[in-house]
Amino acid sequence: MGIENQDRKLGFNTLAIHQGQERDSATGALITPIYQTSTFVLDELGKNKGYQYARTHNPTRSALEECLASLEGAKYGIACASGLAAVSIVTDLLNAGDHVIVGEDVYGGVYRLFERVKKKFNIEFTYVNTADLAQIKAAIKPNTRIIWLESPTNPLLKLADLEAIGEIAKKNNLIFAVDNTFATPYFQRPLEFGADIIVHSTTKYLGGHSDVIGGAIITNRDDLYEELKFYQNAGGAVPGPFDSYLILRGLKTLALRLKEHERNAFAVANFLSQHKFVKAVYYPGLPSHPQFDLAKKQMRGFGGVVAFVVEGGLEAARALVNGTELFQLAESLGGVKSLICHPATMTHAPIPKEVREPLGIVDGLIRLSVGIEDAPDLIFDLEQALSKAQDAATVKAASTKEN
Ligand SMILES: *Cc1c(COP(=O)(O)O)cnc(C)c1O
Repeated sequence: MGIENQDRKLGFNTLAIHQGQERDSATGALITPIYQTSTFVLDELGKNKGYQYARTHNPTRSALEECLASLEGAKYGIACASGLAAVSIVTDLLNAGDHVIVGEDVYGGVYRLFERVKKKFNIEFTYVNTADLAQIKAAIKPNTRIIWLESPTNPLLKLADLEAIGEIAKKNNLIFAVDNTFATPYFQRPLEFGADIIVHSTTKYLGGHSDVIGGAIITNRDDLYEELKFYQNAGGAVPGPFDSYLILRGLKTLALRLKEHERNAFAVANFLSQHKFVKAVYYPGLPSHPQFDLAKKQMRGFGGVVAFVVEGGLEAARALVNGTELFQLAESLGGVKSLICHPATMTHAPIPKEVREPLGIVDGLIRLSVGIEDAPDLIFDLEQALSKAQDAATVKAASTKEN
């Protein structure tokens, strides 16, 4: 763009609204049209307008890709059919016999993809606590190719030191891949800390309205982009033009929404911290978070996900998640509507109790995706649900005594 030069970079909101989204050259349409077509006609043999077949390129998707890349401060973006499609395409970089170091608390679908699908192709995975650099270093082997992690993690919002891990990756010639879904580029830009690849589930904050499934891969490296673009086209996991349009529409208000998500998350986290029936609160923006200093160093904000442990165990947790009216009981996160989830019986149900409890996924753990409703209403909702939880725990305690 003409008003941008070496000394003057466009801001996040300007990029979100303009990058890749010049008025439509054919019609002057202000907003990028939904190019609902599979095929583009050649001008003549050997000459086209940059588009030929929509698995490879589609103008609505190209606009989204350019915008996404700019928000991460990157050269390249590849929009994918889902977050997991993005993860799968990145693992296409691997050959049989290669090894990957993975965060032990990555998204369950990522774990399933690695363990149930990619392992069949003789790819090895070692799961480590990525908050502990020594564990990462100790896991490196001659056949290691990728370090894969999320920060903050789900559901306990643990952080990994991106800069330190970026250095480890560089020194050992490994690809450093970060799933930046929870933080979003508005709050954290992993390429600045040495990441080679960023993956997003755009289903979450980037789309932002819980109405579309999508994913993205972002990189600055020419070599990786060429390969990843090839694998996507070869495998075919592309988003359609309407889904691309919805995500591009979501991006325009990403910063506005995230400021509200964060403001509400702080309000909720502070309320929960003071509630006597709450044992622990996990939110990287609280000084009580064990990695608060790291959060301040590598994040510009702390996001909209808050986790906490209610007193009274499973009985109380059940009454709580069944008892909210605004917070809807559902998996997923990152939309304008607040959600509540019980990891032990929902997202993390396949993990045996003996394995999940030491990781902190206890029966009383609750995860909130705090939406952008009015904070006093959200707090009122939690307050009344917590009192139902307290009642349930009291009834349970009384009946146990009688028996
Ligand atoms: C949801 C999610 C994914 C998977 O994305 P889909 O769009 O559901 O395929 C991957 N990583 C994280 C951190 C997620 O939250």
